Amino acid sequence: MGTRVVVLGAGFGGLELATLLSEALGDDVDVILIDKNDAFIFGYSKLDVMFGRTTLDAVRLAYRDIAKPGVRFLQQTITAIDPEARRVTTHDGVHEADVLIVALGADYDLDATPGLAEGGNEFYSVAGAERLGALLPKFSHGRAIVGVCGTPFKCPPAPSEAALLLHDYLSARGVRDDCEISFVIPFGSPIPPSPDTSRALVAAFAEHDIEFVPERRVSSLDPNRHVVVLDDGGEMPYDLFLGVPKHRAPDVVVASGMTEDGYVPVNAKTLETRFPGVYAVGDVATIGVPKAGVFAEGAARVVAASLIAGWRGGAQPGAYGGLGSCYIEFGAGRVGRVDVDFLSGPKPTGTFQEPSAALVAEKQHFGSSRGARWFSS
Ligand SMILES: Cc1cc2nc3c(=O)[nH]c(=O)nc-3n(C[C@H](O)[C@H](O)[C@H](O)COP(=O)(O)OP(=O)(O)OC[C@H]3O[C@@H](n4cnc5c(N)ncnc54)[C@H](O)[C@@H]3O)c2cc1C
Repeated sequence: MGTRVVVLGAGFGGLELATLLSEALGDDVDVILIDKNDAFIFGYSKLDVMFGRTTLDAVRLAYRDIAKPGVRFLQQTITAIDPEARRVTTHDGVHEADVLIVALGADYDLDATPGLAEGGNEFYSVAGAERLGALLPKFSHGRAIVGVCGTPFKCPPAPSEAALLLHDYLSARGVRDDCEISFVIPFGSPIPPSPDTSRALVAAFAEHDIEFVPERRVSSLDPNRHVVVLDDGGEMPYDLFLGVPKHRAPDVVVASGMTEDGYVPVNAKTLETRFPGVYAVGDVATIGVPKAGVFAEGAARVVAASLIAGWRGGAQPGAYGGLGSCYIEFGAGRVGRVDVDFLSGPKPTGTFQEPSAALVAEKQHFGSSRGARWFSS
């Protein structure tokens, strides 16, 4: 076929796309998958690393293990993207593409929240989660605030999970009574599309004496006075801040001229950008769904099916549906689930499943089955 597909970013979206093209076309396709890192790590593993439930080594899925017909992984940093020419420059060379897929995710903008880098911590990057993993054992009294610094942010349930897991962590160390936990989020409820999920989370916060502060965003931190400043000017004293930093598209994507209002606009049904032969999937795109792995994966499936149908003949896939399921850690080893539908109705909806042992196993399978599919031949 001789079609060169260049996939930028080997996260949820890029890995799923490369896997599907390889499964369908084998050596008939020429896929180059590029990522600056040497390993993939599931987002939720960052919580596990932060709370000492696992080690980083145990959750790293090394890209060198990718063994797929038709797919070559290159560990390179992308330094420029020319969407008109479908040309990508990395620190190591230039790649020309017939089809270019941008799946570079979202980066973090710590500077957008004054005081965060100096006086707080974030748990959304691997480095940040590791740093907090080293700090938490020293936190034995005072007020911890889990706070969101901007929207949109990845995996909307994650900060709720962090607050509940922090309760567990401090309880297990016998210091919970000497600590307060507050949770600040700029939504009216933890999971707006699903009132049942939100009710269950708010009940869990109340049960564990976690102060819930809805409809407020953390706008800055004053490390000298040890206060968090909210978007309404209110202040909350803190001893330890665990933040969700403001997100933004990676600089290289912004510099490519593909973004509008911070992210890459796409046709929500097909994930096509305004540049012919260039698609954007996952957190880097603006599409009206949350920034989460399951949505990146769903978008990748539509692009893969469309490319395969185009090359092989056959019906084009239906439009991207905007459906996704997220597992939610409720603490004490309990896992619930919310199934959300963002695009099919007039407004997003969500269905809640109460925490259960079956869902603990399901979440485990969610990770292990993807690891197996994405990394083996
Ligand atoms: C704490 C936490 C918990 C989460 N829990 C869940 C969950 O339970 N379920 C869920 O579905 N989602 C979860 N997420 C969200 C999920 O991790 C992301 O939404 C998902 O990874 C997005 O997929 P993506 O393919 O768009 O981008 P990513 O998976 O972020 O992949 C982007 C890739 O691009 C690479 N890259 C970026 N810039 C460059 C460059 N210049 N050169 C080369 N490579 C580059 C990066 O290294 C990265 O590997 C969680 C996130 C966090 C932070």
